[in-house]
Amino acid sequence: SGKWAKAEAILRELEDKCGAPTAKLQQVADAMTVEMHAGLASEGGSKLKMLISYVDNLPTGDETGLFYALDLGGTNFRVMRVQLGGKEGVIKQESEEVSIPPHLMVGSSHELFDFIATALAKFVATEGEEFHLPAGKQRELGFTFSFPIRQLSLASGTLIKWTKGFLIEDAVGEDVVEELTKAMERVNLDMRVAALVNDTVGTLAGGKYSNPDVIAAVILGTGSNAAYVERAHAIPKWQGLPPKTGEMVINMEWGNFRSSHLPLTEYDISLDAESLNPGEQLLCRRTCVRLLSFFFWLMEQIFEKLVSGMYLGEIVRRVLCRMAEEASFFGDIIPPKLKIPFILRTPDMSAMHHDSSSDLKVVGSKLKDILEVPNSSLKMRKMIIEICDIVTSRGARLAAAGVLGILKKIGRDTLKEGDNQKSVIALDGGLFEHYTEFRNCMSSTLKELLGEVAEYIVIELANDGSGIGAALLAASHSQYL
Ligand code: ADP
Ligand code: MG
Repeated sequence: SGKWAKAEAILRELEDKCGAPTAKLQQVADAMTVEMHAGLASEGGSKLKMLISYVDNLPTGDETGLFYALDLGGTNFRVMRVQLGGKEGVIKQESEEVSIPPHLMVGSSHELFDFIATALAKFVATEGEEFHLPAGKQRELGFTFSFPIRQLSLASGTLIKWTKGFLIEDAVGEDVVEELTKAMERVNLDMRVAALVNDTVGTLAGGKYSNPDVIAAVILGTGSNAAYVERAHAIPKWQGLPPKTGEMVINMEWGNFRSSHLPLTEYDISLDAESLNPGEQLLCRRTCVRLLSFFFWLMEQIFEKLVSGMYLGEIVRRVLCRMAEEASFFGDIIPPKLKIPFILRTPDMSAMHHDSSSDLKVVGSKLKDILEVPNSSLKMRKMIIEICDIVTSRGARLAAAGVLGILKKIGRDTLKEGDNQKSVIALDGGLFEHYTEFRNCMSSTLKELLGEVAEYIVIELANDGSGIGAALLAASHSQYL
């Protein structure tokens, strides 16, 4: 019937617009390399900030002692302690996860840091006898902070902007280490922040500790970002003395990468327009499509919005909305729940996508539970899986292109005579960890892009490597060394 034909047409258009064939991905990777050069050349030289992390030596494996780590990510924060035993490795480690009450994500800086310091103090109070702090020494902490910060030393940094749904205006421009330190004083917690690191940098440090061939880290969780080891002489904007190792870890902030080669759709643009002005229907669809390239230039964090967990489910919801409106996909009435932004979460999307039952009952029950669509036909369910597949493949393929961009920048994308050095990329984040279709698609795309070099490039899941990484960096920058 006409209804299905229209729905089918919307689906095919989506597939067409999200297409990322090999040649296009090569262009994206090349554009990434170009932007990396530009971001390293001068401050503000590119949308890619290419932030200097002040980490110029990664863990050696000789680190010893008790160290704490704190990881403030998108939705959770985690506190951790590790007893490092030098050559013996990690002797004991404990961690606890605390979810951040949503009102604190948009409140005041004072409240957020008080909440964090209080949770940390509670955790410190449970420290058992297996952990040893030499008498008279102060506890030290590695602080993983997964938002863009401008650092002037390893143990300080001012917040550039919030991402991933956080918006605490009085914290922007402030030194987050100072904020945390003041909050710890307020709750009488005697602890020194020895290192402030982005989660990508923490994951790189933790990854390198367990595998010396690790050269880069990528996060695919609520948001997305990457860090890698750069040669200091390839960083023209670096003003300081050359680091002894000749190397510096760079936090790319690749979520803000943009290129005219990125496959964008009207759904991505309207997502952005609305996330800037919630509740306001700014643009009618047709205007939006017509002005696509113009609004493209206004968009923030475009790359992140195409590849990360916060947005994939929402893009699917938007496609379904249009199908409901224009093709009566769910019948004559548009399910009211479908109108609610972010109601379809990426974990639900991935549960549907992985549904292997013959009647797709997981899809059916998700539609029922989340969108209150009581009856769905098999044909509908199949189409929904197809939408998930298109949106996820685009994200995973672009993430692979991003990795290729890094490999190109550091000359690991080609084989060199007599060099069979492996390059390992440490991957972390809930999206990569749990969304199997995403993970598989990313791996196979990387192989497709690399050809014969593929056997030297390894993607390794570094589960919660950033916590250990931050603790290790605190250890190697301890005040007692
Ligand atoms: P953060 O990025 O906040 O530090 P995580 O790395 O744990 O936290 O990632 C959480 C994100 O991972 C969620 O926002 C969600 O998008 C994604 N995610 C979690 N579980 C799943 C799942 N089962 N399938 C797909 N995505 C998932
Ligand atoms: Mg995280």
